[in-house]
Amino acid sequence: MSVMPKEKAIEISDLKKNYSGGVEALKGIDLTIEQGDIFGLLGPNGAGKSTTISIVCSLLHPTSGTVKILGNDVIKNPSEAKKHIGVVPQEFNFNIFEPCAQIVMNQAGYYGVARDISRKRTAELFEQLGLSDKAKVPSIKLSGGMKRRLMIARALVHNPDILILDEPTAGVDISLRRSMWTFLEEQNKKGLTIILTTHYLEEAESLCGKIAIIDKGEIIEQGKTQDLLAKLSKETVILYTQSIPKEFSNNKFRIVEENTLEVELHKDDTVLSVVKDLEGQGIIVNRMKNKSNRLEELFLDVVEGH
Ligand code: ADP
Ligand code: MG
Repeated sequence: MSVMPKEKAIEISDLKKNYSGGVEALKGIDLTIEQGDIFGLLGPNGAGKSTTISIVCSLLHPTSGTVKILGNDVIKNPSEAKKHIGVVPQEFNFNIFEPCAQIVMNQAGYYGVARDISRKRTAELFEQLGLSDKAKVPSIKLSGGMKRRLMIARALVHNPDILILDEPTAGVDISLRRSMWTFLEEQNKKGLTIILTTHYLEEAESLCGKIAIIDKGEIIEQGKTQDLLAKLSKETVILYTQSIPKEFSNNKFRIVEENTLEVELHKDDTVLSVVKDLEGQGIIVNRMKNKSNRLEELFLDVVEGH
C-alpha cells in the first residue's frame, strides 16, 4: 500500500506581481511551506512580503504564477483556498467602534461557523490571549499589543489550518512579544501551520524552523534556519574578561572597553581555541556573547550582496 504524500500547506510557483505604475514587486518567486512548519518570510522594507501574503490570502490578484493552499488554487478556487487560512494583516483593519467579541463573532459568521460554536471559540481564544475582560469593549480602547492579539483571535476563530501573520510583533513590547511567541508555538504544536513575515530577526531565529529571505521581489535564500545559520562564514563575538595586562597585543583581538574584547570567529575557529589563546597571555574569559543576532549577520551578508 502506498502512502499518499502530504499535501503542501502552501505552494507558490513562479509568482509575479507588477503594480500599476510599473513596480515589479515580485519577480517570479517559488516557495513551498510544509504542513506543521513555522515559516518566516524575512526581508527589508519593500521586499515584497506583504504583496506575497496578500496574494496567498486572495486579497490581491497576481500578474502571473500559481499559489495553492492545501492543493487549492487561490485563483481557480478562492473560496476553498480561503477556508484554510486565517490572516493577521500588517495594518489594523477592524471597525474601531465595534466591541471586540463582536468583531471576532462577525468573522466567524462570515466563514459560516454556527453561532454557539463561535461564541465558545471566541471566549476560548480571548482567554488564551488575555482579552477576556475586553469582550464588550470597543476595539478603539485597546492598546496596540491588544489590538494585535484581537486580530489573532479573529484570524483563528474559524479554526483554519494555516495562520499567516504580517509583521505580528511590530510595535509590540518585549514581554508581550514573548507571550505571543509562546501562544503561537502552542498552536503550532496542536497542528497549526504558521507563516509570518518579520523584520525582527530575533523573532525569526527563535520561532521559525524554516525561513526564506526575500529582497527586491526575489527569494535569495531559503531553508532550515539552522542550516542557513551554519553557512555564516564568520561571527563577531564579545568576550568579557578579567583584567587585561597593559602589554597585551594580539591583532586577532580588539579591546573595545575595559576588560572587553571583540574577536571574529571564522567557520573553523572554536571557542576553546580562543579562550586558550587568551589564557596563554594571562587573560581569563568570564563571559561571552555574539555581537549581533546570528540571523542578522546572515541577513546582512546575503541582502548586501544581492
Ligand atoms: P514589504 O511588505 O516587504 O515591505 P510590499 O509587498 O509592501 O513590501 O511592497 C513591495 C513593493 O511594491 C514596494 O516597492 C512597494 O512600494 C510596492 N507596492 C506595494 N503596494 C503597492 C501598491 N498598492 N501600488 C504600487 N506599488 C506598491
Ligand atoms: Mg509589509
